[in-house]
Parts: sequence; C-alpha cells; structure tokens
Amino acid sequence: MGKVKVGVLGATGSVGQRFIQLLENHEYFEVVALGASDKSAGNLYKDVMKSRWKVSSKIPDYAANMKITRCTPKETPGVDLVFSGLDSDVAGEVETEYAQAGVMVISNSKNHRTDKDVPILSAEVNSEQLKVLEAQKTKGKIITNSNCTIMGVTITLKPLLDAYGIESVFIVSMQAISGAGYPGVPSLDILGNVVPHIGGEEEKVEMEPQKCLGKVSGGKIVPANFKISAHCNRVPVIDGHTVCVSVKLKKKTTVEKIKKLWAEFSGEPQKLKLPSAPLQVIDYREEIDRPQPRLDLMNGNGMTTTVGRLRPDPLFDFKYVVLSHNTIRGAAGAAILNAELVYKKGYLRVK
Ligand code: NAP
Repeated sequence: MGKVKVGVLGATGSVGQRFIQLLENHEYFEVVALGASDKSAGNLYKDVMKSRWKVSSKIPDYAANMKITRCTPKETPGVDLVFSGLDSDVAGEVETEYAQAGVMVISNSKNHRTDKDVPILSAEVNSEQLKVLEAQKTKGKIITNSNCTIMGVTITLKPLLDAYGIESVFIVSMQAISGAGYPGVPSLDILGNVVPHIGGEEEKVEMEPQKCLGKVSGGKIVPANFKISAHCNRVPVIDGHTVCVSVKLKKKTTVEKIKKLWAEFSGEPQKLKLPSAPLQVIDYREEIDRPQPRLDLMNGNGMTTTVGRLRPDPLFDFKYVVLSHNTIRGAAGAAILNAELVYKKGYLRVK
C-alpha cells in the first residue's frame, strides 16, 4: 500500500514549517498539498519562505518547489488527512469544511478543543478518547492537540492522577517567543524582559488538562475533576516552554515513588512503535538546575518531556519543573504522533 496523502494547512507559519521538516521521508505520510493565506497562495514554497524559514535544517526538497494553495478542499484535492497549523482566526471554519469534505483533520488550533465530541488527543495519555470520534456528524473527523504549554504538564499529571488522584494544580509558565507564531512578539517588548500576560492562555491552561485527562462515558468525554490555577508569562527564550507545577494529590506518596512512576510511564505509541514516539516519554533529570530550554529542548528529538526539581511543597504536596518543545511536542510533533496513532488503529479512511 502507498503512503497516506496529506496536506499541511498554515504551512508557512511557525508550526507549519515544523510539519514540513518533520514530515520529510515520513514512513506513513506523503505531503501532497501546502495551504496558506491568499497572500502566499500561488507562489512556490521556497520563494515565500526565503526569509521566513526559521528551522535549522534546509527547506526539504520535496516542499521547496511545491506551489502553495488556498486552504479549501477544492484546491487541495486527493488528501486523506490535513495537519492544521492555521491561525485561530480562520482555523475553526476551514477545519470544519475539510471534515465535511471527508478529510481527517489533525489540528493545533484552539477552535475545536472545546467541542464535546472532539478529543484533545495526547497519544500516550488518552488514546481511549478516540472512541468519541463516532459521535462527530461529519464524514471526516477532527482531532486536536492540547495547548503547547500544558502538553508536558498533562503528561506528567497522567500517572499521578491514575495512582493517587489529583485535588488541585498550580502552574507558573515561562513561555518561548516562538509560541506566538512569526514574527510574533516585537523584539522591543521581549528582549531583556518578561511579559506577564499572554492573551487567552490562562483560560486554556486552566481547562484543557482536565478534558485531556477525562474519561469517556456514554460516548462523551467527562473531564477529570480538579482545579488548576495558572500564571502565564512570555520570556525571552526562542523555543521551549518551561512550567513550574505544584500539585495536591488525594493520596499520600513520596518523591521516590513519583520518580519511578514517571520513569516507567509509556503509552500506546510506544507499544505500537510509532515512528514519532519517544523511547522515554518523561525524562527525570537529577541535577539541581534542570531542565533548561537551552540544554534539554531536543531531548528525544524534541518529543520527550523533561522534568526536574521534584520536591515537597509546603502549600501543595509536591512541586516540580517541566520543559517541553512548543513547536515539536507541543504542536507539529504531537500532531504527527496523533496521526500515526489514528492510522495504525484504523481510524483513518484512505481513499
Ligand atoms: P503563525 O506563525 O502566525 O502561522 C499562521 C499560519 O496561518 C500561516 O501559515 C498563515 O499563512 C496561515 N493563515 C493566516 N490567515 C489565513 C487565512 N485567512 N487563510 C489561510 N491561512 C491563513 O502561527 P503558528 O505559531 O504557526 O500557530 C499556528 C496555530 O497553531 C495557531 O492556532 C496557534 O495557536 C497554534 N499553536 C502554536 C504553537 C506554537 O508554539 N507556535 C504551539 C501550539 C499550537 P500566511 O503565511 O500566508 O499568512
């Protein structure tokens, strides 16, 4: 059987270019369409990206000479699946249009994350939520990633929730500039500075982990029952969101037991040996000053969640620090892993 034909919507953005990089020579997927806005459509990818390609490797040959189209099913015929890295101003409608046209949508945007029958899929955490796809009325189905800030946090909370139950979580984020897309935050605002506000971020961070960690009951996702309080900050780091987490658990445990749970944590992607699955899902660093974006960002090719500084918390039970790559594990890499999972589990209809 040939490869699955896929499109990348928002191919010119920060997330889009990660897709282009990570999908080069993919074992299951072949990129046959690149979509972006009217201003990019009609041009060759290499011409539009001349000054916008910000990934360290070269623009892959397969994409360089492809013509960018507008993001409509008519202009991207023959795709079985689209990865969406679209601006949230347009993602909702465009993704619905693709699903109606029978195309599976794997999205990074916030627009469909609150839909009751759309899972916020985190492949190692909640693959059983794929069951709710049956409730979606469209021929193609929509699956979303979580917000990039909570991707790693949710992964670390999953084994704690299963083993001890969670009462509450307190989070302070230090989020990279690339999280705001390109060109993103003006240099005069961020250099030598910290901006203690990211529009709409705290609302997402305080809601999405519970849905992601929820259970399916009666064909619906029932969110996990705990509260999160979040402070989200933009810091002058290029890639990699660092998050300080304090957690109150329902049962008593120890630092050593938690470290063991994290070290052993894995999910379906590892069982199925999916191409993008990290061997180590959570990597605990014993050094007193880790994780750090500059040192740990590319752990597991950017797919491993690096954790450190687990210690007792006088207000909550435990506190620790999480780092994950926002455009890889928090966006394109996680979306590709989700697509690999739905493909291997037979949820993807290939024409
Ligand atoms: P970005 O760099 O601003 O890229 C946005 C993309 O959307 C570009 O390809 C742009 O095309 C396209 N676009 C804008 N308006 C359009 C329209 N009217 N029709 C079709 N395409 C249009 O943003 P980003 O950081 O990659 O983020 C993309 C999405 O992923 C957002 O929803 C964001 O919230 C989410 N996300 C981002 C990150 C991250 O770390 N950056 C992580 C997780 C999730 P043109 O170049 O032609 O304008």
